[in-house]
Amino acid sequence: MAVRRSFKFLLRPTRKQVVALTACLADHQQLYNAALEHRRTAYRKAGVTVRYGEQSAELKHIRADDPGGQGRWSFSSQQATLRRLDKAFGAFFARVKAGLVPGFPRFKGRGRFDTVEWPKDGDGCRWDSQPGHPAATYVRLQGIGQVRVHQHRRVLGTVKTISVKREGRRWYVILSCDDVPAQPLPATGVAVGIDMGVAWLVTTSDGEHVANQRHLATCADRLAAAQRELSRKERGSHRRRKAVARVAALHAKVRRQRLDGAHKAALALVRAYDVIVHEALQVATMTRRAAPKPDGEGGWLPNGAAAKSGLNKSILDAGWGVFLTILSHKAESAGRELIAVNPANTSRTCAHCRHCAAENRVTQAEFRCTACGHTVHADVNAAINIFRAGLALRDAAEAA
Ligand SMILES: [Zn+2]
Repeated sequence: MAVRRSFKFLLRPTRKQVVALTACLADHQQLYNAALEHRRTAYRKAGVTVRYGEQSAELKHIRADDPGGQGRWSFSSQQATLRRLDKAFGAFFARVKAGLVPGFPRFKGRGRFDTVEWPKDGDGCRWDSQPGHPAATYVRLQGIGQVRVHQHRRVLGTVKTISVKREGRRWYVILSCDDVPAQPLPATGVAVGIDMGVAWLVTTSDGEHVANQRHLATCADRLAAAQRELSRKERGSHRRRKAVARVAALHAKVRRQRLDGAHKAALALVRAYDVIVHEALQVATMTRRAAPKPDGEGGWLPNGAAAKSGLNKSILDAGWGVFLTILSHKAESAGRELIAVNPANTSRTCAHCRHCAAENRVTQAEFRCTACGHTVHADVNAAINIFRAGLALRDAAEAA
């Protein structure tokens, strides 16, 4: 069995290459914004919807007119940028159709455009472009040159797409690979149910807690404070620019912590269990929650504690989505079985006597059954119910 997987490595560009990488990113950003402007104007002035095909056909002229600028880069990476805009519009129209009121696709300002993708290895880019080099790995990027890669692990499978991403002052290359051989783990003979929570990312039906979310919540508090601070700064001021940088740095930190916690928790589960039952995420319920009001420039309108808890909650919620994605990749590669169950009533049903009542749940952490008096950690109780629901699903599927 083979799976798709991505590999991310730090780049070690020369000073000249940093200048070229920066220019490459800036030109792709300019292309994205110009194509967005084109679509908006056509729609406003003439009610016409411009499509990807038309914009892609224009690329030839744009490149010919600007050989020292847009003409320097790969045709394919520019097409990928236009496709990215097309995707943003596709998502926008899908949400309109669903009766939601989505924000119109936005212009990408400084620091909001950080990735260029080359959709095919060998087309404007080449992974491991100097395979004979005794000491280092290189990636060749059109218009930039041979950039040295800090390759800290082996790449498996076939390289499909190559992306370059800027994170703060660092540059990374991300390879998306197909046909990566799965690495099945030996069977353990044990199955488990997991509950995803606020204080702990995961609690198992065996009563174990995995990956503490308190770190993440602390960081989210600081992020909320930084965003309030940002909203008080005058537009275009030096202080505002500094505040924007601080918010971006905290966002990056939250992302790193979340990824790190999710990877560790997923790895521990996949190693220990053959079958993992989890609750299916209910995205609709999550988005119905009141959210903090954005001020339209990347900050948040002050609305006190509500904004804080809203942001905090949304960061933890987003963590569950990330965690489940990582868990499913690891489970697939390790040959483990994942079962998703409907989470309805799993947190209010007594795992001991099956009595179901909202009053059973005393606090966030404590479950005390009003019928039989059974007392247990609320997350463990939920995990046991999730586990049973998963086994019932599997039995039903086998019987059918
Ligand atoms: Zn009970």
